[in-house]
Amino acid sequence: MKSPSAVDTSLYRALSDRLPRFLSRALMKTASLPSLPAVVLQVLEIARTPSASLKEYAGVIEHDPALTARLIAVANTAHHVRSPNPALTSLEATQRLGTDATLATVLSFALFRDEQTTEVATPTWQRAIASAAIASQLAQTCCPQQPGQVFTVALLQDIGILALQRAYPEEAETLYASRDRIHLQLAREERQRFGCDHALIGAWLAAKWGLPESIVTAIRDSHDSFFTEDPVAMCVRLSGPVADAWLSPNAAHAFATLLFELSAGESAHVELLESLFHRIHQQIHLLSDLLKLAVPLPLDSHAVLGEAKQLLFQHTLTISARLETQQARFHALEREHDTLLERSRLDPLTGLANRAWLEDQLQQRFAQCREKQRTLSVIFIDLDHFKALNDRYGHRTGDEVLKRFGKALLSLVGVSDLAGRYGGEEFLVILPDETAHNALSLAQRIIALLENEPMGECDDEALYISVSIGIACTADGVFESEHELIAAADQSMYYIKRSGRSGVSVYGQ
Ligand code: GH3
Ligand code: MG
Ligand code: MG
Repeated sequence: MKSPSAVDTSLYRALSDRLPRFLSRALMKTASLPSLPAVVLQVLEIARTPSASLKEYAGVIEHDPALTARLIAVANTAHHVRSPNPALTSLEATQRLGTDATLATVLSFALFRDEQTTEVATPTWQRAIASAAIASQLAQTCCPQQPGQVFTVALLQDIGILALQRAYPEEAETLYASRDRIHLQLAREERQRFGCDHALIGAWLAAKWGLPESIVTAIRDSHDSFFTEDPVAMCVRLSGPVADAWLSPNAAHAFATLLFELSAGESAHVELLESLFHRIHQQIHLLSDLLKLAVPLPLDSHAVLGEAKQLLFQHTLTISARLETQQARFHALEREHDTLLERSRLDPLTGLANRAWLEDQLQQRFAQCREKQRTLSVIFIDLDHFKALNDRYGHRTGDEVLKRFGKALLSLVGVSDLAGRYGGEEFLVILPDETAHNALSLAQRIIALLENEPMGECDDEALYISVSIGIACTADGVFESEHELIAAADQSMYYIKRSGRSGVSVYGQ
């Protein structure tokens, strides 16, 4: 056999280094695959020269009678589609078939030659043929200058599987038995069993045969992402997954999945696949004829694509429905959270802020006030003789009074103030940015209101109450914490209690 050309030697060596020893030894021992008949190598040599004519191909092929017969047979099978006159010579056959199909026929003939395609190899060949057909159709749109190369790489991308199947027939039986295995998953299992996958083995073989470096590397990288800038690589890498979908028992579902994957990238890919879909049918027919291998075809490509799109649409619909449900659930939780939070802030009897919330807010305001040198006032209110009121009119009446007072207080405080119930019959108002003077005027309005409005009634008797109020303002003393501020207000309030109740006192004045 011909040794790899000088250009490819280093690539061949690099690939050999990556191949586990036991594997390359086993592959070398396999009869048909690792070497190619001389005539095939010559054909490949011609394929490597860009200016190669069909005549040159025909001239080489003529030397191998079996190959010539095969080529003519193939040309005449495909010929059914085109012309009434059968091809009789190697040249006529190559002219009918064109370079791509000639090359494919030669390669497949060489690889198939001695043996019947085994049961286990059939899916691999079907994938190879479908991929080649798909890739060359893609190439017509994406890289019209290099259809031949795209075709050859797509056809050979899984040649490593055939090599593994021949070197390890028993293991291959279990590994490749399932037809609907995802291709990349298959490669992963190969790496687990053999230490490398069929893409690397295929590239190694191609380098060993002396195929051009670009073909070798394209086979090696055939499993990489099809989202690539290189149009040749894109055509090859996309051809496999499209072929898998095409050959899948559930083509519509498989295409829907593929369309979904493609739509994650560029929309151009989806459009490309759609336009390809309608042309590919005939192409696969032609090729499977060519290679005497039945490739199952979905009955109606339009129907399959239509169904795939519907599935995709449904899929996105399900996703958005799921999203909506999740959003609704999230909003419900948010509302629930708000309610709980509100409840945790409010005093249930009066509906005013509770002590915890008052302290929380006061702490924040106090810190802010220190940091930004602002004033802050608090008003501490304690109902007078409330125990006596309870004792006389009952606890429930006492509750009513507390409620009413809460409402009255709320009606008097400003929007930026916070009024709350600090304890049993104690209330607190926080007044950010207010001086003691302004707090005092609010306190006086509270006292005035209580003088005029009863806070309850019992047996048609109106109940009037009075309060003792203490005020403290940050501007009127040195307060290390909000607790000290409250303590100051409380202290002022007690001063009123001691001096007879019902009144206001301001801390430090
Ligand atoms: P002072 O004028 O000195 O403030 O006397 P006071 O009776 O108002 O004060 P004291 O602290 O002695 O009593 C407070 C009373 O408030 C005792 C308690 O039963 C009553 N109280 C506390 N919380 C509630 C409540 O939620 N509902 C009712 N009805 N009474 C309450
Ligand atoms: Mg009290
Ligand atoms: Mg009291």
